[in-house]
Amino acid sequence: MKTLYKFYDFINEELFDAELPAAEIHLLGKDSHKIMGFEIDGLCIGLDDYEYWIGIHEDLNIYDSFYTLVHEMIHVWQLENGKHMNHSGWFKVWEKKALTYVNLNEEEIKCLAQNI
Ligand SMILES: [Zn+2]
Repeated sequence: MKTLYKFYDFINEELFDAELPAAEIHLLGKDSHKIMGFEIDGLCIGLDDYEYWIGIHEDLNIYDSFYTLVHEMIHVWQLENGKHMNHSGWFKVWEKKALTYVNLNEEEIKCLAQNI
């Protein structure tokens, strides 16, 4: 859990210039990660104007957790900036930026988890 919050701060600084507000991060258990019958890796919900709730599946390895968090944080950015929460338009723009600013391999992510 602590690691996910560290990742959140790291991604926020590196990718979003620390502009995203703090979010609550939760691990999704085996049952709670099914939404309308679909299995999901992550989830982002805007609670009100300045609060966000992010769920990350507990079974993901550290690499997938990191990139699922990047994915959900792009949704936080969309909600925060009044954009539609989807996977086109701005989502693709941020996905591309992520390739530049937070493009880490598994070793680097493990290292990051220990050192930040
Ligand atoms: Zn998504």
